[in-house]
Amino acid sequence: MPLFNAASAGSFQITTSFRKIEIKKKSKYMFKKILIANRGEIACRVIKSARKMGIATVAVYSDADKNALHVAMADEAVHVGAAAAAESYLVIEKIIAAAKETGAEAIHPGYGFLSENADFAKALKDAGIAFIGPNVKAIEVMGDKIESKKFANDAKVNTVPGYMGEIETAEEAIKIANDIGYPVMIKASAGGGGKGMRIAHSEGEVEEGFNASKSEAMSSFGDDRIFIEKFIVEPRHIEIQVLADKHGNVVYLNERECSIQRRNQKVLEEAPSSFLDEATRKEMGEQSVALAKAVEYESAGTVEFIVDKDRNFYFLEMNTRLQVEHPVTELITDVDLVEQMIKVAAGEKLEISQSDIKINGWSIESRIYAEDPYRNFLPSIGRLVRYQPPAESTENGLTIRNDTGVYEGGEISMFYDPMIAKLITHAPTRAEAIEHMAGALDRFYIDGIQHNVPFLSAIMQHERWVSGNISTSFIADEYPDGFEPRAAEGEELKVLSCVAAAIDYLGNTRRRHISDQMEGRPVVFAEDRVVVISDVRQELRVEQVSAEADDLTIHFQGEGAGDVSVSSNWWFGQPLWVGSVDGKEVAVQVRPIDNGYELSYSGVTSPAYVYTKREAELSSLMPIKEAPDTSKLLLCPMPGLVVNIMVEEGDEIKAGQSLCIVEAMKMENILRAERDTVVTKINAAPGDSLAVDAIIMEFE
Ligand code: ADP
Ligand code: ADP
Ligand code: MG
Repeated sequence: MPLFNAASAGSFQITTSFRKIEIKKKSKYMFKKILIANRGEIACRVIKSARKMGIATVAVYSDADKNALHVAMADEAVHVGAAAAAESYLVIEKIIAAAKETGAEAIHPGYGFLSENADFAKALKDAGIAFIGPNVKAIEVMGDKIESKKFANDAKVNTVPGYMGEIETAEEAIKIANDIGYPVMIKASAGGGGKGMRIAHSEGEVEEGFNASKSEAMSSFGDDRIFIEKFIVEPRHIEIQVLADKHGNVVYLNERECSIQRRNQKVLEEAPSSFLDEATRKEMGEQSVALAKAVEYESAGTVEFIVDKDRNFYFLEMNTRLQVEHPVTELITDVDLVEQMIKVAAGEKLEISQSDIKINGWSIESRIYAEDPYRNFLPSIGRLVRYQPPAESTENGLTIRNDTGVYEGGEISMFYDPMIAKLITHAPTRAEAIEHMAGALDRFYIDGIQHNVPFLSAIMQHERWVSGNISTSFIADEYPDGFEPRAAEGEELKVLSCVAAAIDYLGNTRRRHISDQMEGRPVVFAEDRVVVISDVRQELRVEQVSAEADDLTIHFQGEGAGDVSVSSNWWFGQPLWVGSVDGKEVAVQVRPIDNGYELSYSGVTSPAYVYTKREAELSSLMPIKEAPDTSKLLLCPMPGLVVNIMVEEGDEIKAGQSLCIVEAMKMENILRAERDTVVTKINAAPGDSLAVDAIIMEFE
């Protein structure tokens, strides 16, 4: 059985000056060269497996991706058009021309883009190029939610109770919803990426949801067929990975749980699921295999289910492609899914049988998105001024893998998906995988754009996530008013106070050396300080306990008094303070600010100031700068394009009324009034590109 070595997966440390590895070994597979019709992390991911197999790679790129990592990594690259995906990555003729021009024998589509496009698979067949994915029929049947549900039903797979046909009118929808019983889920048959989906609890909501889904489906997919099914309350999203060859062999590689979602989109995934028992796992696996066989599936695919509280499971859809979250399966099964897809496409028989597939340990994936967790996860774009992910490693049974498609200095553009990396950990147990993830997130250093690392860190500390008692409504339940910056407290406050005090002490020592006050005198110092973090004042004494200023004992005074030993090799300019605090190894992110440092740890970010006692007395007398009043302004929440302004100067508006639509990263965002007022001035017009916090309009 071809084993995928987690350690070797982890050895791909990407740097911008990517050195092209000479292909020494002649490929023993049918393909000598493949093209990857995708970009970002998934293009890089496919290139790694191809290279491991001795297959040469061709990247394609748009104007916006000239300097992208996938282009640097591939052996060859072909320019395929303008930045907008519809003019480059989605143009079938251009992709085929690029394959012909370079002599690529097969194409891997990644996910998104052309991966589930039956016309693309057909066109490749006609052009004599192998598609590294399933056959046309499977894509067609499974690409349509209504058709696939009927098909699954016929193949004896459990489906969500509901109406199996298309629904023409809102009246019909209401009648059907009444029959099914509330709540119901209204869905677009062509839907994907969480689009064209609405929950309805009443007749009124059905009417509204039906119309909204229909128009969203039309604008997103050019297909407005709608169906309705029962909304399963507080379900868990659990999916089965299948793998099939062209010879009728199908296996399942166990499950992944993807219940942590926002806007019906996955944020955190894990394998295995903490909810399944062996019997349910087997039943879900066998139904998935039966479905794959019924549709004569080949390649890797995923059968998605929702599972209710009583472990009843229902088919949602089949994704006929490599899934974003496939790495967690790779880490628990030791199977390289991309390698398998390539072999299967080349006609090889599966060398893995069901009994070879085991569950080794636990794996968790965090999707690192360029989005602002404090602003309802709106996309963020710009330059990655700093991008320093934690090093990939496998040590003592603990693995960190980072699948990424970006590099420091590169740009996150508004044209594509906001996902910038997938951070994956693997450990013997779920608790250890979570702990390792928390540590890895602390080390993930990003500047220049907003990102969701603080949010992911907060979830890693969340008692409900840690206990495994989760459902798809976890984020909505736990963060009903959105994610707010947290203040440091307890253990975190102690760690941050120690790090702030240690940095201050190091600075003072450095200054004493510069002015030669220490000439020839190895004096051990102690300093009394007041540390202010998250508006909490903490009096402490910093004592140097060895010849170096690196080893300290911090004597906390007042409430929570006690001694903590602190040790680190940190030096000025390093973005990460890594060291031990009270015997525990911690990584704290350090950013210089006026008169102090901004420190980030465990999802908490706070300015930290260290004062002498006299400075502390004086600082408490300083006036506090008031934040400007923005309640009379509509500010642009993210960089984007103004699509529509729905009001005029002088209009009286009501709370909740739509004011303007701003588009960014494939998402249209409707900005609404927060209170009843009057529009006094409009500063933007449709077609304007706005920066974050640009004033769109002013109110009375
Ligand atoms: P997964 O189930 O693998 O997590 P997602 O639903 O998150 O997949 O989608 C994977 C990628 O494909 C995302 O980048 C998403 O934006 C994109 N995507 C999914 N469905 C569609 C679609 N129908 N049209 C365009 N993009 C899509
Ligand atoms: P997409 O093609 O956008 O991935 P899915 O049908 O896979 O659409 O659904 C995406 C998510 O929406 C699921 O993971 C689940 O959280 C939720 N969902 C979909 N259908 C239902 C349902 N009938 N009941 C409850 N939740 C659902
Ligand atoms: Mg889905």
